Amino acid sequence: MASSLPPRSSYLKKENAGTARREMGLKVAPRRNVLSAINNGEANGGAPSAPADGGGAEAAPVVEFGGREDVERLLAEKMKGKSKNDFKGRNEQMSDYIKKLRACIRWYMELEDGYLAEQEKLRSTLDAENSRHTELEAQLSNAIEELKAANLDLTRRCESLEETLNREKSEKLIAVESYEKEKQERESAERSRDVLTVELERATHDAKRFSEQLKMVQDTNKRLQEYNTSLQQYNSNLQADASKSGETISKLQKEKSAMMETMAALRECHNSMSSQLESSRASQQEAIRVKEELRKEVECRRAESKQVRDDRDHAVAQLNSLNIELATCKEQFGRASKECECMSTKVSALEETCNTQQEQIQTLQKQLAVATDKLKLADVTAIEAMTGYEEQKEKIKYLEDRLAHAESQIVEGDELRKKLHNTILELKGNIRVFCRVRPLLRFDGDSNGPEGASISFPTSVESAGRAIDLMNQGQKLSFSYDKVFDHNASQEDVFVEISQLVQSALDGYKVCIFAYGQTGSGKTYTMMGKSGIDQKGIIPRSLEQIFKTSQSLESQGWKYSMQASMLEIYNESIRDLLAPGRPNSFDMTTSKQYTIKHDSHGNTTVSDLTIIDVFSIADVTNLLEKASHSRSVGKTQMNEQSSRSHFVFTLKISGSNENTGQHVQGVLNLIDLAGSERLAKSGSTGDRLKETQSINKSLSALSDVIFAIGKGDDHVPFRNSKLTYLLQPCLGGDSKTLMFVNISPEASSVGETICSLRFASRVNACEIGIPRRQTQARPFDSRLSYGFQQY
Ligand code: ADP
Ligand code: MG
Repeated sequence: MASSLPPRSSYLKKENAGTARREMGLKVAPRRNVLSAINNGEANGGAPSAPADGGGAEAAPVVEFGGREDVERLLAEKMKGKSKNDFKGRNEQMSDYIKKLRACIRWYMELEDGYLAEQEKLRSTLDAENSRHTELEAQLSNAIEELKAANLDLTRRCESLEETLNREKSEKLIAVESYEKEKQERESAERSRDVLTVELERATHDAKRFSEQLKMVQDTNKRLQEYNTSLQQYNSNLQADASKSGETISKLQKEKSAMMETMAALRECHNSMSSQLESSRASQQEAIRVKEELRKEVECRRAESKQVRDDRDHAVAQLNSLNIELATCKEQFGRASKECECMSTKVSALEETCNTQQEQIQTLQKQLAVATDKLKLADVTAIEAMTGYEEQKEKIKYLEDRLAHAESQIVEGDELRKKLHNTILELKGNIRVFCRVRPLLRFDGDSNGPEGASISFPTSVESAGRAIDLMNQGQKLSFSYDKVFDHNASQEDVFVEISQLVQSALDGYKVCIFAYGQTGSGKTYTMMGKSGIDQKGIIPRSLEQIFKTSQSLESQGWKYSMQASMLEIYNESIRDLLAPGRPNSFDMTTSKQYTIKHDSHGNTTVSDLTIIDVFSIADVTNLLEKASHSRSVGKTQMNEQSSRSHFVFTLKISGSNENTGQHVQGVLNLIDLAGSERLAKSGSTGDRLKETQSINKSLSALSDVIFAIGKGDDHVPFRNSKLTYLLQPCLGGDSKTLMFVNISPEASSVGETICSLRFASRVNACEIGIPRRQTQARPFDSRLSYGFQQY
């Protein structure tokens, strides 16, 4: 079997191993059959089985090979016998081995068959792949060819397009050139046409001229003919005449021959003229012909020109269309380039915008960061400010509390001040007496000047400013008062001492200040003073103080209103000094009653009395002037200017404090009493006597009232005079009374001076502080009713 197989190398060269095998009659046993054969062989204890092929080989058990391991095991197998001569065993072993080898060979062959089949399959696959590859290559080459052809075609088309473009360009150039040429030709034609036109015109002109000449010649000819006719007629006439007259014929014939000669000459002339005409006609004909030719030429030229123009128009149209195309192309190109530019500008603009926006964003971010920082800072500041605000608020609240407390303390202090002030005044005495000695006046006494009374003012510590000594008939009289003003005391000095009383009126107390003394002692001077700043008396100074103080108290919430009235009591009659009408007259028959009334609150009203609201010192000054004018003045021996009546100035002060709810009502009575001199001295009689008696009565009534109050009497005779009754609420109680005792310093007035000083002493003696306060506890109303009962 092995020999039947071709060598492996040659075998492998076979294209199709399967085919070769079939040619050799070999059959490939399926692997499973081989395996089963081997197994069977082995199972049969090595009994030979039928060979797989019918190749003529003896039957042998089929041995199965699992792989190279089995082959290697087979190769490694060694022949072993039981003994050296155990050929049978060896033979069996060998035959067994041969079987195995055969199986091995068979296995190899099968393997080879498998390989060959696989190789064949692979080869066929390779062939198919190769054919496919070849096909693809062919397709690819075809496609390349096609692409090349298309490329070539495209290139050709491109070239042809380029050529067309170039051609068109050249055509365009040619057209432009031809247009230029045509233009030039047209221009030259136009020029020649112009020339021809000129020539034509000239020819026409010549023709015209010639025709005119012709006409002229014809006219001449006509005339000549006419002349000829006339000559002929003349000739005939002549001939007729000749026939008539024989003799004259010869002459006439001569004439005729002459005439004939002339005629011949004329005929010659005519002939020449005719020839000239002929030549003219010929020249005219020539001219007409030339003209015709020229016209023809012109027409020809025109036709040419028209042709040229048409060509030109055509070319122009072409050029225009080309230009339009070019323009369109240019426009498109321009538009495209513009768009491109526009787009690029837009892009650049957008880039710029983007950049600027980025920058802006960056700036804004920076600003935002700064703002955020600021905000943080502001927050911190705000928190600080809030805390500061809270602190300030607390401080303000604390200060407000303190302010309220201080204000309440001020109010309390004010109250206390008033009380203390009142207490001081009470301690000083509610009725106080001041003595004022006026200086010696020049008109006092005789012409040598006044002789002063021996008045002295003790200067000891305890009595300085409070005492006055008077020497009378070698006897020294000593008086002491609350205050003594000597002749050097100024109005200012005096007012300083009484300003506290004025303050009391503002505090809500009732104040009375009297000026007592003999006529000419200085009462009016003390109360009113004189014009001039330093001469002002108590009344204007008091009012100044009141207005000033009331204004300064406005800051504490005080509001004051003032009402002023002025009256005089003369002979127990009241007279309104501010009454409108005739202020200087004193009309006793007046219907006005001026009844005095007091209400339960201690307010006094006088019926029909003029009460004027005053708001400033100027108001009061005017009123005082008016009052001083209307005040009745009587003449006495003592002092012409001395008043014979009591002058009462009343200022009602009402104040209220909105802050504290306090209300005060004070009254300031400033009274310039009538002269206190005794009757005998004044030497009054009649009305003056009555006047003086009335004055004395009222003054004694005043002193009675004061003494009664001073003594604490249950009954105070207020109603004994109009003056005391008018001043009733202001005398006694917690009201303040001050009596100025004015003294004249002259020796002649000593008597009156002593009276005045004694009266003042009595008044002064009746003031005692503490008992006065006790009287304060006494109800005003009971005292008032008591007063009424007594009256
Ligand atoms: P009365 O009113 O008491 O009758 P007057 O006040 O009219 O007296 O005074 C009489 C005169 O004396 C007036 O001319 C007045 O100017 C003057 N006189 C009074 N007191 C003084 C004084 N202190 N200083 C200067 N002159 C005074
Ligand atoms: Mg007077």
